[in-house]
Parts: sequence; C-alpha cells; structure tokens
Amino acid sequence: MSKYQIQKQAIVDAAQDLTKKGFLMATGGNLSLRIIGEKVFAVTPSDFDYMKMTADDICILDFELNQLEGDLKPSVEAAMHCAIYQVRPDVTAVVHTHQVYASALTLINKSIPGLFDEQTRFLGRSVDIIPYAPSGTGMLRDTIAKNVRNHNNAYLMKNHGALLFGTDLDRACHNVEILEKCSLAYLLTLCTEKKASKVPLAVREIAFAKLRKDQKRVESGQIAVGGE
Ligand code: 13P
Ligand code: ZN
Repeated sequence: MSKYQIQKQAIVDAAQDLTKKGFLMATGGNLSLRIIGEKVFAVTPSDFDYMKMTADDICILDFELNQLEGDLKPSVEAAMHCAIYQVRPDVTAVVHTHQVYASALTLINKSIPGLFDEQTRFLGRSVDIIPYAPSGTGMLRDTIAKNVRNHNNAYLMKNHGALLFGTDLDRACHNVEILEKCSLAYLLTLCTEKKASKVPLAVREIAFAKLRKDQKRVESGQIAVGGE
C-alpha cells in the first residue's frame, strides 16, 4: 500500500462530495494536496470520472513534476498546482472548479469585493480575476503563480473557472461553497444595477488578519485548521 494512501483517499472523498453537490461537472476541475514535509503533492488524474475514481488512481508528483506514483496521466493543470505550492507556502490544498456562478463572473470580468463576513474571513479581502491563459499551458501556470501571492484563498480564472486554497482539504472545499454563494448573490445584485455595499473596512481587515493567522500556522509547520 502507498505511504500516501490517506491523502489519496481524502482527495477521492472530497472530489466525489463536490461532484454530488454540483461543483464539479463531468471531468472538469482538479484537486491536489500538499504532502507536508516533502516537496511532493497528490493530484487527480486527467479527464477521469470522479465518481469512478479510487485512491489508486490519484497521482503522486514531486515539485519537478516527476510522477512517483499512479498509472494514469496527471491533471493537465498539475504544473499550476505545483507552482501554487511553491509561491504559497501557507497553502496545503488546492481545488480548481468550473463552478457555474463563479465562472459567470469571469465572463463579465467582475471581481467580487468584500461583501460578506464569511467571505472576508475565509476567502480573503476580495476574489480577484486572474487574466486568461489557455487550460493546461505553461502560460496559465505562470499567470496563476504571478497573481496568487496576495494571500487570498479564492480567485476567478477568466473564461475558465475558479481556484480555491485551504490550510487543509476540508477548508478548500468549504471555500468552494462560500465562493459559489457569494458569486450568485453578487450576480443577482449586478442585475439590479444598484451598487453592492461592502462589509465595513475595519471588519474586513480583522477577518483577513484571522485568515493570515491560520496561514502562518501552516507556514511555520504547525498544521492549522478551521479557525474562530
Ligand atoms: P484535467 O481533467 O486534466 O484535470 O483538466 C480539467 C480542467 O479543469 C482543465 O483546466
Ligand atoms: Zn479547468
């Protein structure tokens, strides 16, 4: 049995849960988990039905993208996941989705300002649009690596989908749900043509400080989860 079996099973469970909840459609999106203490990560295989996936299908790659375990081809976005782990030492899990409402905002180039308490607490100060680059390319990897350094935990990928980070996989998956709620509420607000009001600045900054505290626990080697 693989020494990464627990991490592989956690990815399968998370992917199937997100599929059942409608956040992952067909074989779109991909999930990964940093292996703490090693320059290694676990990632979903490319173009593979999440509901048929088992732990043995999950690929283990090192940060040079050498495949250490798994017979299937890793996600075409494996290099993007790898780049995120390198520029964001506070991130333990990465979930990329094609979730519908967040994707709709990317089509009209609308970043989400700090609208709700739970958004600023778990996703960051805002959910910004990252410029377009084609799926599975080095251009996308480099564009993402350049634009995720501000310690937010959610981003919108122009004409593509969303990226969610977490101090663990459960947190990254909860962030998928928070993002979709915020995206729908913001889209509905945009339909009214009235200006969306933001959470007061002081509250946004306190929430972001709490988020950074969680992240710093991971950076310093203590595994932080949840938060107040
Ligand atoms: P993979 O099936 O290769 O992970 O690709 C899906 C995707 O979302 C590409 O951006
Ligand atoms: Zn994608």
